[in-house]
Amino acid sequence: MILMLVVALQLVRGQGQSAAQMNYTTFLAQVNSGNVHKVTFKGDNLEGELKTPVVQGGQEVHKFTLTLPPDIQGLTKTLEGQNVIIDAKQPQAGWGTFLGYALPWLLFIAFWIWMLRAMQGGGNRAFQFGRSKAKLISPDTPKVTFTDVAGADEAKDELQEIIEFLKDPGRFSRLGGRLPKGVLLVGPPGTGKTLLARAVAGEAGRPFFQMSGSDFVEMFVGVGASRVRDLFEQGKAHAPCIIFVDEIDAVGRHRGAGLGGGHDEREQTLNALLVEMDGFESNEGVILLAATNRPDVLDPALLRPGRFDRQVVVDSPDVKGREGILRVHAKKLPLADDVNLALIARGTPGMSGADLANVCNEAALLAARRGVDKVAMDDFERAKDKVMLGSERKSLVLTERERKLTAFHEAGHAVLGLKVPGMDPVHKVTIVPRGMALGITSSLPEEDRHSYTKEWLEGRLAMLFGGRVAEEMIFGEGDVTTGAGNDIERATATARRMVTQYGMSDVIGLVTIGDSEHEVFLGRELVQRTQVSEHTARLVDQEVKHILDVAHDKARGVLEEHYDLLNRIANALLERETLDREQIQMLERNEPLPPVPAPAPLHPPESAAPKKVPLHGRGLTLPGGEGPLPGPAPGFVSDETEESPEA
Ligand code: ADP
Ligand code: MG
Ligand code: ZN
Repeated sequence: MILMLVVALQLVRGQGQSAAQMNYTTFLAQVNSGNVHKVTFKGDNLEGELKTPVVQGGQEVHKFTLTLPPDIQGLTKTLEGQNVIIDAKQPQAGWGTFLGYALPWLLFIAFWIWMLRAMQGGGNRAFQFGRSKAKLISPDTPKVTFTDVAGADEAKDELQEIIEFLKDPGRFSRLGGRLPKGVLLVGPPGTGKTLLARAVAGEAGRPFFQMSGSDFVEMFVGVGASRVRDLFEQGKAHAPCIIFVDEIDAVGRHRGAGLGGGHDEREQTLNALLVEMDGFESNEGVILLAATNRPDVLDPALLRPGRFDRQVVVDSPDVKGREGILRVHAKKLPLADDVNLALIARGTPGMSGADLANVCNEAALLAARRGVDKVAMDDFERAKDKVMLGSERKSLVLTERERKLTAFHEAGHAVLGLKVPGMDPVHKVTIVPRGMALGITSSLPEEDRHSYTKEWLEGRLAMLFGGRVAEEMIFGEGDVTTGAGNDIERATATARRMVTQYGMSDVIGLVTIGDSEHEVFLGRELVQRTQVSEHTARLVDQEVKHILDVAHDKARGVLEEHYDLLNRIANALLERETLDREQIQMLERNEPLPPVPAPAPLHPPESAAPKKVPLHGRGLTLPGGEGPLPGPAPGFVSDETEESPEA
């Protein structure tokens, strides 16, 4: 813009001088006719003045300029002869030329000065990389309260104490007690950690700074550390208050663990955080609240007493918790009378709060699609299946043979679920393709399980094999399909864990055998892996194979014994596609099923939602084992058949 201004000025000035351009011939003619008053040489240019103005191009010319052509020897003589006043000056650079040279430098210097000032924290202008981006949730922003958080009662109790402290700091310090400086919310994703923190903000009625771990990270080195300092400065200015760092694992990872190694930016940020947490006294009234779902990767220094001295576990909700969460989210929906949230809660083991919120939302959407104004129980059931297993894929066309295979496969699972003692009751069997699965057999535990007996696990392995074995029995060994791939994968993973982690193999004994899958991102385990001798590795493999073989034989035995039931269920499935719990029990008692109701156009087909691999990574934690059970929520057996090219 400045440049344009200069150019414009130059143009205006050039015109304002009213010195007309004249060519040399005209000039010489004027000289010879004695009409030139004076001239001034400026390098190659010449400026001059006429005695009497002449008209040139419709304009009266008094002053003129011209550029001298080469070979003009003798001009001075001619001028002298005509008594012209002659002068000469140094050719002087115009403003434009000067600016042309100087402007870039000026701009550069100005920018430099501005940058220096900004980096010294000069004032409140832009360029605040070093400032924390913490969002202040002041007491008068819309509130989330503890009533919005269902379940998680222990967590709420712990946090309640923090809130009391914030409301009345004196009460606790009077007796010499020291309040925690930091509270770490730990739990799987979607269990409501962020929600709890927001509820604390709503309940406490004190300033609440919210920042996420990744906000510390920026393009420039050193920004993270300076943001940490700034965050705490802000906190102290508003004390007593809460600082909440969400997803703290982004900055709080083990030092020295990065794949790149060395002293990196993240470590500096973490160090700054550690220093700040030590640097303020707890009675200054700044409480650091943080949330993570990877406490195992946090730096131990962060977790020691005096920093995060309290860890609040926010676990996957139990039945009661799930019912509560459903209640919270269903509050906003117009519910039909038949809705039984307790039953849905029972049918959603292993689901997190976020999943349940999603179920409620899907139910509302399904009801809306049906064009009714109340959300019915059936909507919830369908929403539940959709969230757990992905959308139904009615459009997937199966050949008659595939349908039959799937029906027997699922019937195989179902018979095992019914006939192996101790297994959870079979809740639903279907051969409607859904997500990646061609069919699903789901069983519902009467209550949440938190640990599993060896016997139960063995039964489950047999149940997983039930599908494949049924295929073998009906169609012959050569005709089995890829449909059991996922069953086998899950069975293998479970069996391997039984051997290497749960000490359920007599041959191996009570030894944990390496191969923990954690922290692959950190590069630690990459190095520490496999401290297992080849001999042990072979033994493990043999044991896993043995367990799986036993399960396979067991499945075969049960199915041979209950061959009739297998056929009954499979045929009923071919007829009706989906069997519910009562129908399965009737089939088990060999009673005739009620006639198929006329197909009601109740549900328009669900649109093809994005594929969702059913239930991966969801499950309960086994005591002693850190990871979830491989595979689905307990009790859910689903078949994933990647659609083979021929399908
Ligand atoms: P995270 O633990 O991963 O931070 P969030 O707090 O973000 O999980 O929870 C995601 C959503 O799930 C919330 O916005 C809320 O709708 C729902 N939710 C999770 N847990 C609960 C709960 N205990 N009560 C009510 N809603 C919950
Ligand atoms: Mg969160
Ligand atoms: Zn299967």
